Amino acid sequence: MNDSPCCPRCGLNVKPPTVHDQVWRCSTHGVVAPVRLWAALDRDAMESIRQRSGVPLWVLSPSPPEWAVTGLAMAGDPDRPAQATAVAATGPAPLGGMAELMLVAEELGTGLGSGYAALTGPDPGGLLAGAPQASVRIDGHATPLWSVPTNADRCVFVGEALGRWLWAVLWPAEAGVLLLEDLVLLDLREHIPGGLHFGPPSPYLRPGL
Ligand SMILES: [Zn+2]
Repeated sequence: MNDSPCCPRCGLNVKPPTVHDQVWRCSTHGVVAPVRLWAALDRDAMESIRQRSGVPLWVLSPSPPEWAVTGLAMAGDPDRPAQATAVAATGPAPLGGMAELMLVAEELGTGLGSGYAALTGPDPGGLLAGAPQASVRIDGHATPLWSVPTNADRCVFVGEALGRWLWAVLWPAEAGVLLLEDLVLLDLREHIPGGLHFGPPSPYLRPGL
């Protein structure tokens, strides 16, 4: 785990609470939920971390061939259940090369998904309009996702699952076609599936890059 918590929006280190100011602060974004990053992960670490979350920890399950979990971010006061999570995954892109996927679950107003998506506002509410462009399956149900315009180097989808925002951010932008494949998501708080592999850290683990 990286010891210095960072801002969910920009990824810069945040100032811890003091006796006079009992909140975490980013010099740009003000009061924020501090984000801790786990670049090195394995099954034992995930086992001990997963019950600390108040929101889902989404992974692809079944995992596509040769894909691995490559990092974790959790936002919130360290003494309370996490209010946002991001699980990184890396694997072969459908059209060649490697793809990176960040699956974010968050409470309203956290801004972690927005940080990975490189959007200016913290919440995607106004962006969900018209017919959805993709979907994932959760607990046997199709969960619609809407495409969100952002930087050309990534592709962003957002929807809602289990009462929380669900973001899927993919690099490079062409890797968005992955979401046309009717992927299935599992919340690791339920269990860690046997076929889940862990790999070296994703270069996109820190939000705001
Ligand atoms: Zn910030």
